[in-house]
Amino acid sequence: MLPTKAYATHGPNDKLVPWNFDRRTLQTTDILIDIYYCGVCHSDIHQARSEWSKGIYPMVPGHEIVGKVAAIGKDVSKFKIGDLVGVGCMIDSCGNCPTCQNGYEQFCKSGAVYTYNAIERDGISPTYGGYSNKIVVREAFVLHISEKLDLAGVAPLLCAGITTYSPIRKWKIGKGHKVGVLGLGGLGHMAVKFAVSFGAEVTVISTSMNKKEDAEKLGAHQFCYTKDETQVKQFSGYFDFIIDTVSAEHNYDMYLKMLNVYGVQILVGIPDKPIALNPFSLLSNGRTITASSIGGIPETQEMLDYCAAHNITSDVEIIPISYINEAYERMIKSDVKYRFVIDLSTL
Ligand code: NAP
Ligand code: ZN
Repeated sequence: MLPTKAYATHGPNDKLVPWNFDRRTLQTTDILIDIYYCGVCHSDIHQARSEWSKGIYPMVPGHEIVGKVAAIGKDVSKFKIGDLVGVGCMIDSCGNCPTCQNGYEQFCKSGAVYTYNAIERDGISPTYGGYSNKIVVREAFVLHISEKLDLAGVAPLLCAGITTYSPIRKWKIGKGHKVGVLGLGGLGHMAVKFAVSFGAEVTVISTSMNKKEDAEKLGAHQFCYTKDETQVKQFSGYFDFIIDTVSAEHNYDMYLKMLNVYGVQILVGIPDKPIALNPFSLLSNGRTITASSIGGIPETQEMLDYCAAHNITSDVEIIPISYINEAYERMIKSDVKYRFVIDLSTL
């Protein structure tokens, strides 16, 4: 067994505290990764606090992991010791079902194994995430990372990056489209960067007036402050797509009305309550509401390569792990520019 240092929460109302446990010893297709940085996703908060469903405790969150290969199993062929690598939201799946075969492991028919707050395919071992100094992952779920990019800024690509890149590609969002990015947090700021990069006209739709300047710096063309009714009205029936990254309950009808004919609202944010909306908000203009879940492993590698080619990384605030509980509180107040990333050398 491999002794591992981490931060864990022991219950939905507890803070994260130092905790030690053992990772499994390397199997033939496993890679041991020394973790350098791990991004802090709002999903970490939802799960640490059992907001979606009852969590598995102790829980070590973290699914935006980057680091270096420290050791490899004897059948590993695509990585060598010293390579820069990443691990995102999944660490395993069956690999044989049609969706896995097509590279959509997130929809594996036997269920993808998530990086933490999940049970391995052996049916008994809990998974522990990236708020730790090392992780053991099957090579099929490890991603290559370019030496060209700032490593701390790459970490959030493993979840916030792929989760926004994937629907932008699926819906072929780009030149000629008017896109609203709803919520300027970790996912939102990546959605802005990708939509701009693919040539769309981008508007940030935000509850925080103080993010207007940043939105422009990120490449957005317009800003809509949603607490001002006049600004909301200006964008009535305007957008072809809205990428909704909001983490808390919000008024879906208000935002749907901002969609043009056949406009599409893509939900990536996952508030803890079922959503309510008036069917007329969809009927009018023939609108569509849909959702998107992370992205498969091949598409995650494609996204990382795209970011290396176009010099795209996340805007990060690097924190020591001891700051994690404050970081959670600040994220809940929408006070992060635009992703906290833990420096694991502080563990
Ligand atoms: P985040 O950094 O906290 O950003 C969320 C943003 O939503 C905030 O910055 C804020 O932006 C806006 N917001 C917050 N409360 C709001 C409210 N009551 N009404 C309107 N806007 C509000 O969170 P994140 O890490 O980007 O994650 C966002 C959501 O995506 C979470 O629910 C997370 O679980 C989910 N997620 C989903 C997937 C997936 O596969 N679909 C993957 C990762 C994460 P403004 O200040 O601009 O208003
Ligand atoms: Zn995430």
